[in-house]
Amino acid sequence: MEKRQFKAESKRLLEMMINSIYTQKEIFLRELISNASDAIDKMYYKALTDDSISFNQNDYYIKLSADKENRTLTITDTGIGMTKEELETNLGTIAKSGSLAFKKENESKDGHDIIGQFGVGFYSAFMVADVVTVTSKALGSEEAYKWESDGAEGYTIEQATKDSFGTEIVIKIKENTEDESYDEYLEDYRLKTIIKKYSDFIRYPIKMDVTQRTPKEGSDNEWDEFTEEQIINSMVPIWKKNKNELTTEDYESFYNEKHYGFDKPLKHVHLSVDGAVRYHSILYIPENIPFDYYSKEFEKGLELYSNGVLIMDKCADLLPDHFSFVKGMVDSEDLSLNISREILQHDRQLKLIAKNIKSKIKGALQSLLKEEREKYDQFYKAFGRQLKYGVYSDISSKDTLQDLLMFFSSKEKKLVTLGEYVSRMPEDQKYIYYAAGESQERIEKLPQLELVTDKGFEVLYFTEDVDEFAIRMLSSYKEKEFKSVSSGDLGIETEDSQEDTKSEESENKELFDSMKQVLAGKVKDVRVSKRLKSHPVCLATEGEVSIEMEKILQSMPD
Ligand code: ADP
Ligand code: MG
Repeated sequence: MEKRQFKAESKRLLEMMINSIYTQKEIFLRELISNASDAIDKMYYKALTDDSISFNQNDYYIKLSADKENRTLTITDTGIGMTKEELETNLGTIAKSGSLAFKKENESKDGHDIIGQFGVGFYSAFMVADVVTVTSKALGSEEAYKWESDGAEGYTIEQATKDSFGTEIVIKIKENTEDESYDEYLEDYRLKTIIKKYSDFIRYPIKMDVTQRTPKEGSDNEWDEFTEEQIINSMVPIWKKNKNELTTEDYESFYNEKHYGFDKPLKHVHLSVDGAVRYHSILYIPENIPFDYYSKEFEKGLELYSNGVLIMDKCADLLPDHFSFVKGMVDSEDLSLNISREILQHDRQLKLIAKNIKSKIKGALQSLLKEEREKYDQFYKAFGRQLKYGVYSDISSKDTLQDLLMFFSSKEKKLVTLGEYVSRMPEDQKYIYYAAGESQERIEKLPQLELVTDKGFEVLYFTEDVDEFAIRMLSSYKEKEFKSVSSGDLGIETEDSQEDTKSEESENKELFDSMKQVLAGKVKDVRVSKRLKSHPVCLATEGEVSIEMEKILQSMPD
């Protein structure tokens, strides 16, 4: 059989790809700046292993300049550059990432802050460009080469001249069309905004020639123009900044920039700890559940940086399972750079940080509960189940979690905490009552509910599988035991009524015996009940496992 290659209409493919990946045209700048930063990073990693290369931070930068007259935007970097072959393979092949290859080759070193990996970012330039010209001189090479393309009809490569190593990309900005303006990508102000938005923490300076205007001396409406080179990005990562200088928007844009989620976080916590272990951290409580949250695919974890260099995308050891919804990062100087994953797991510093973070998350949730109840309700609807799983699967988390739990209340008709429940308990109420069922409506129809609510006692509704299991693990809250309204002894009957029950049972012995006979094998016993008001019968359990729990256990695969 002959194996054939797929053919592709590259022009159409490129168009489709560019237009389906990016929703905003301005992204092109983020992509090109990321590439420039990667190129400088590679220089840095080369210098780590090659003594003949010295890396002097001051020599490395990215520079932007816009030329309105010629409609060009130029992005220059002093990075590692590309050889003729590299121009061909990296820019001439869609989805070919030289950076990914570099990362793989250098896996033993810490090449993890290199951004590129998909091999498509570069082509985003064609969203705003008619022609892209890349002139590059690779480190250690004598020659420079020029790659040029209009994004449709392929590309050309020819020899060129360039003095220093690095890459210069010239983008010929498209002419405005009827419904689309491209002029903005030649405006200093606009370019600055885009850089701040996406590339603020790029570690190398992003310089730009910015045109300044001052009023001409002795004139009101004439201006003196001059250009001034400015560094646009702050370079220092947000987590190393002073909390007082940061706004909620800053934290939210960091959250989005880092792709922690597409939602707006409900709350953030910024920690700068300088104690037994030093670290910076920004933690977020998300608003929405990630689509895969309650599936096996979901990976918990925080980003882990060592001295500003990303070590791990998702360091799972930093988060307990019951707080697996938390997003964010940790940066510590106290982790050594060459730690491997295995060593990390047993890292003492990491354990200290994790412990510390756990209590901070609890604190954040408690303050949300206390001060912003609506937001807490929103959080709880998304992640409450995880807290309950936490109690059930790891009883040592009891102290952390029990105050954070909420259940629907028969009295309040909304979610209440156990603390709120207990604080409302009348003196003659011994237990915290709950009723388990499929839904609020179903529970409200339970015959067993009536007696308890008629007494004026509040009942918590357990509508989720995990509820009863979790509560059984807790067994009590503030020394009040939990009691199912379906359990045999509700702790409500007075001695009189217990006497009553006994005598009624013996008086009607024959009836009960024959009922038992009819229901043999289906029920264990038939008894007189004092807990029924408007229903003739109800089912009750005596043992450890309730009817609801039994249903769940039976539905579980073996
Ligand atoms: P990615 O960055 O995901 O790898 P790109 O399409 O953005 O994909 O870039 C493709 C490749 O081209 C990069 O991996 C890199 O090898 C090379 N490249 C792009 N821009 C530069 C640059 N300014 N300097 C050196 N190499 C570059
Ligand atoms: Mg890229």
